[in-house]
Amino acid sequence: GKRGRTAKSRYNTKEWTTLDDLQCQICLSVLRQCVALEPCGHNFCASCLSQHFANLLQAGLPLTCPLRCAVPERVVNNKAVRALIEMHEPLETPLTVSSSRNASAGAGVDVADLNEVASQGQGTPSTRRTKSGGISSPASLAAAKEEAEDEDFVEMSVLCPLYDDMLPMVASSLKSKQVEFSLSQLRRPEGDPNPFMAALESLARLAWSDDVIREEIARGHGIEAMVAAIRRFPDNEGVQCNGCLALMSLVRGEGDVCQHNQWRVAKAGGVETIVEAMNEFHDHAMVQLSALLCMIPLALENPMMQAHVADLALPAVCNAMRLHPKEAEVQAKGMVVLGVLAQGEDAVHDAIRYRQLSINAHREIARSLAIYGGESDEVLWAALFSLAVLVREGGEPFEPACRAAAGTNVQTLVVEALEQYRENMQSAGNVDLADDTILRAGTYLLDVLGPTVVKLREERRRMYAVAATAVAVPAVLYAGYKFLIAR
Ligand SMILES: [Zn+2]
Ligand SMILES: [Zn+2]
Repeated sequence: GKRGRTAKSRYNTKEWTTLDDLQCQICLSVLRQCVALEPCGHNFCASCLSQHFANLLQAGLPLTCPLRCAVPERVVNNKAVRALIEMHEPLETPLTVSSSRNASAGAGVDVADLNEVASQGQGTPSTRRTKSGGISSPASLAAAKEEAEDEDFVEMSVLCPLYDDMLPMVASSLKSKQVEFSLSQLRRPEGDPNPFMAALESLARLAWSDDVIREEIARGHGIEAMVAAIRRFPDNEGVQCNGCLALMSLVRGEGDVCQHNQWRVAKAGGVETIVEAMNEFHDHAMVQLSALLCMIPLALENPMMQAHVADLALPAVCNAMRLHPKEAEVQAKGMVVLGVLAQGEDAVHDAIRYRQLSINAHREIARSLAIYGGESDEVLWAALFSLAVLVREGGEPFEPACRAAAGTNVQTLVVEALEQYRENMQSAGNVDLADDTILRAGTYLLDVLGPTVVKLREERRRMYAVAATAVAVPAVLYAGYKFLIAR
């Protein structure tokens, strides 16, 4: 109709080809204070993106593009798109207003008009439904904007504001916002555990492989807050798990920050808290696993921490293995913890090995070997590692450790497990096993245990001989006694 021609005369076809760029993918209205996410390049209203980020923050989720593309590196002011919108702003096409108003009033859309508008663009009619139910056609920019001003206007979120003077905002400041928010969640006075669980998970994700964030959390007293959260909800499994994983994320790197955080966790009473969680939830495999996962990096390459963790946690580690024989992960991680804690060539580590023997850690390892054999690489490797540490040559408890291991039939179990492992590897197509870590570890262990096993067998044979005599003597006496009675 006439109105269509009016539109044609006013708009330049070239500009319509970029129309998708002028529409916010969140509110589907004209972009207001357009910001773009890099590297994906998607455009949003500053307030819409701010609100989107705030929702993610509150859910404890990482800040991602609303269209789920690559992890954002920056939020920038999209001046080009803002200028383009500025050009269109004074124009109000009657066509647009009427079709949009008709639609929202339920009177239907003038299809002819829409098609005419679409033909000015890319050929196919592009219609989108706005939140208010109206049709947003390429020509309805002004109407959409009007609607947005009326009812769809979204305010900038205070959790993650994106005002122009804050742009460009880099990924690290987005992460800092998350840290800040999550730490504030951990200080909430309310008794609902869910925000705590979400905050712990969010902190675990953020610090997973980022020393800057690890330091930031520690400086913000995050470690104390995490430990306090675990203690505050002693009957909530999720908080216990996420708390252990959050602590783990702060120490699982190799740098100075992680070593510092090991001390900080100890100072905050973290190890005691983890052990309490294990005891409280002894029948929950996930809590056991989270706690064990946390202990490994907590004690790694830090002899003092190894002594500290061993002092508090050894019985809980053995309990976890004993109570969850069907959980391969618990078995494997439990044995890795045993190995990590006892690995060292000094008197302290000799004492830790003695302690492991005294609480029968070798029996848990033997049970694990008996159950899993060569079926699980992870369990087998962990078993060989923890045993090799326990029977370390030159260590003070070398002889008793070998005896303890041999006494639980470890040698036979290892031989069988290695045989099964070798068969599995060969049937999977791995023929060259000369350099295989597991086989080498197994061979080493058998070499170490061999002499003790032989000695032990000798001793047993002698003992049986003595025992046989001991049985024979009373028999003779008894016979003599009967003989005497008969007399
Ligand atoms: Zn995107
Ligand atoms: Zn928007």
